[in-house]
Amino acid sequence: MPLTEAEAKRLSRRTGMALESFTWENNGILTLLNDEKTRACVFLLTASPDTNAEGICSVYEVRPEGCRKYPIVLNSNDDAILDDGCPHRQDFPEPSEADAIELLNLEERLLRRQ
Ligand code: SF4
Repeated sequence: MPLTEAEAKRLSRRTGMALESFTWENNGILTLLNDEKTRACVFLLTASPDTNAEGICSVYEVRPEGCRKYPIVLNSNDDAILDDGCPHRQDFPEPSEADAIELLNLEERLLRRQ
């Protein structure tokens, strides 16, 4: 999951973790690291690499905006869609044009590293 510099700093303050222990740079975009064992986000409390396994976000109150929007993502046409990889996507309403605009604004901030 991508996150802004400000979101990374806030997570670092809240968790006491160094940025390097939960982020990496993916083509110039700051991104949350995955745990080696669970293959899920380092902040997901889960014991299993199964994508359907139970898990709880340990930083839910301060999770990045991309996490708040998920499973809404942008497709290659910049339309907001529900991510095929989300096993619960059928529980969400169809994304709107407003969702696409929010995600495009987030993308711009990510690219500017704000
Ligand atoms: S919601 Fe929490 S566990 Fe899920 S990707 Fe975001 S920070 Fe990680």
